[in-house]
Amino acid sequence: MSDRVTATVDLAAIRHNLRQVRRRAPGARVMAAVKADAYGHGAVPVARTLEAAGVDALAVACIEEALTLREAHIRTPITLLEGILSAEEANLAAYERLQIVLNDFWQVQLLESMPASASLQVWFKLDSGMHRLGFPLSAVPRLSAVLERNPGWQFCGWMTHLACADEMDNPMTQRQIEDFDAALLGLPGARSIANSAGLLGWPSAAQRDWVRPGLALYGASPLPGKVGLDLGLQPALTLTSRLIARRDYEAGAGIGYGSAYRCPEPMSIGVAAVGYADGIHRSLSSGAPILVGGQPARIAGRVSMDMITLDLREAPAAVVGDEVLLWGAALPAELLAAHAGTLAYELFCGLTNRVRFRYVDSAGSRLDLR
Ligand SMILES: *Cc1c(COP(=O)(O)O)cnc(C)c1O
Repeated sequence: MSDRVTATVDLAAIRHNLRQVRRRAPGARVMAAVKADAYGHGAVPVARTLEAAGVDALAVACIEEALTLREAHIRTPITLLEGILSAEEANLAAYERLQIVLNDFWQVQLLESMPASASLQVWFKLDSGMHRLGFPLSAVPRLSAVLERNPGWQFCGWMTHLACADEMDNPMTQRQIEDFDAALLGLPGARSIANSAGLLGWPSAAQRDWVRPGLALYGASPLPGKVGLDLGLQPALTLTSRLIARRDYEAGAGIGYGSAYRCPEPMSIGVAAVGYADGIHRSLSSGAPILVGGQPARIAGRVSMDMITLDLREAPAAVVGDEVLLWGAALPAELLAAHAGTLAYELFCGLTNRVRFRYVDSAGSRLDLR
């Protein structure tokens, strides 16, 4: 198989990151977000790894993602973060023993119209300030009444989502936590507040019965100015390509589409076999850092569909065939994301099916699953 673009996922890093999460939230149960194909890392191998490591639950966005995991014989509880969209989905969710996050009364009505025999597991999501999904806090008494009139439902708990947890000086987070707690004062049911930023940025404040990390499990930081390694996390995915050409040009030569890069002096330009059709955003213009054979290089000019051009002035020893590192432990994805004006989340989810995935377990034997 071609080794043009390879994503090497180290499952041991994912286990390490789960341990770090547990260390920061002692006593809390962990619901690991594996939506969007485990943030581009591969839902099934990641879920298997987390299941074997004893994760308490997995979270996905939608029913299709949950079914993929059940088809792969994942038995861990799975939560549908966006709930259900139709009676058909509700039936499937009951049959597959999925936990449904209810966000609105139309979903409550849909479940109440189902046969009483269906074994429904539900969370209620409260809107404490994110203003996207969730019941207003004032609906809590009505929701308690819903639970009382549906004694057959298995109630998983109350959750809310933080809007600004990555901003350490924003009072919004503390306000959301206090309002959520106050609205539920004295009521039974598990509580869940923290995503990765809540867990890492507001350790004790946001910790409740359940934490819901996503990004942190993949070894990246949601906190600006910090990378995963700063927080004790290990990047799980290493994205590599190959140098397929190296040429010398005169000062003034224009490189690539639009001649968008002009060589300021006589210099070497390299070409790596990776482009936006692999998930390297076109917004990663000149200047973005890359490693070629372990030496620093920078993207020069526009990212094209299948290739990027590189300024090799700081990589004099680079030769055709060298490994080109786009991101990984030696070059955190957060840095590349910052250059593209985006987040590691989007880089991860943007990897396309042209990328070859290789799974390794640095703590044990090598696995090739996809
Ligand atoms: C995706 C998601 C998470 C995980 O978020 P990270 O920022 O990746 O940790 C947690 N909770 C909800 C409701 C989500 O949608």
